[in-house]
Amino acid sequence: MGSVQICIECEQCSYEFAMDDYNYRTGERLTFCPRCGYKKSYTYETDESGNFVMKTDLYEIDEKTIGYIPKGPSFDYVKSEMELLKRFCPFSRNITQEELNSIDKKAYIVKTDSKKEAIEVYLSFWYNRKIIKEDSKTFLQHTHPVPRQEEKQGHGICCLGGALYYLEDLGVEKALELAKESEYKEHSYVTQFRDGKLEVLYGEIEG
Ligand SMILES: [Zn+2]
Repeated sequence: MGSVQICIECEQCSYEFAMDDYNYRTGERLTFCPRCGYKKSYTYETDESGNFVMKTDLYEIDEKTIGYIPKGPSFDYVKSEMELLKRFCPFSRNITQEELNSIDKKAYIVKTDSKKEAIEVYLSFWYNRKIIKEDSKTFLQHTHPVPRQEEKQGHGICCLGGALYYLEDLGVEKALELAKESEYKEHSYVTQFRDGKLEVLYGEIEG
């Protein structure tokens, strides 16, 4: 398996069940909202030869916010980040490199916020994680690629009986025409996100 999929709240229309797909092999991340069409993708900086530009961060192991979440059975589909966080186990300051290596493949290594309510950074991915001990403190050194500016797009959806099209691709007129003609009319909708509000141009949406 190469990705984690969770539901997150849409940044644009606040729909609670937007999809967030994080491929931890390639580092690509995609957020998509089936209600307003909002799409956010993340990729990483590369040099002229196509290699990732890397950066190294140091996190002090505080026995609270740095730790791991054991992977779930097979396909790790969870409703929310809170659900993932219920399985969170903080690292002890006595952790050794061998221990880190042994859990590396079976867990998501993460940094949470101070309240342990959200994942701030996924540290499992990429090549280089080291335990460093210095002045009776323990650090996790994490080397990772530098994110490129994220791309955001999508201001509307045309849903034709379950198949989703971006409103931008079809245009409002064509979207309405197709939705009205669709043989799955009752499961079709057209939305448009304008001036900070989601307008339903055709059909009905949940929530
Ligand atoms: Zn949305």
